Amino acid sequence: MTLTLPLDGGCICGALRYRVKDLPLAVFMCHCDNCQKRTGSAFSLSMIVWRKDFETTSGETLWCDLPGGSGALHRQHVCPHCLTRTHTEMMAHPDIINVRPGTLDRPQAVMPVAQVWTSAAHPWALAADIRCFEENPIDVPSLVAEWRARHG
Ligand SMILES: [Zn+2]
Ligand SMILES: [Zn+2]
Repeated sequence: MTLTLPLDGGCICGALRYRVKDLPLAVFMCHCDNCQKRTGSAFSLSMIVWRKDFETTSGETLWCDLPGGSGALHRQHVCPHCLTRTHTEMMAHPDIINVRPGTLDRPQAVMPVAQVWTSAAHPWALAADIRCFEENPIDVPSLVAEWRARHG
């Protein structure tokens, strides 16, 4: 499905809004323990975008630094009013913002290209017909190319 750009999104209460100005790099499902705890659910979704393509268009964020599933430090951003998590900075990759695509105005417009940390997944939560990685993905450039070919 070709995406209509820009991609707008925001928190539940509407105070925090953001925009992704150009085509994202990829969308992944993550089944790691950390994502399960944070969401109180079975997995989370990550939409990787270039930092230069991301901006908050209204509101401020509250944030905290915590290790992600891989142990690397991540800065989690939430709306200070409704506590919706909209995006994450991966401190080891300063060029990248990890947007939480469930907060897009049209979240169904993007689909995951792979699922990661399947070693921690609930069996019933595994998606059919997408690539699986037991921990962090390898060969990320080929996943990016595949995702962009589908959505660009
Ligand atoms: Zn809010
Ligand atoms: Zn995770």
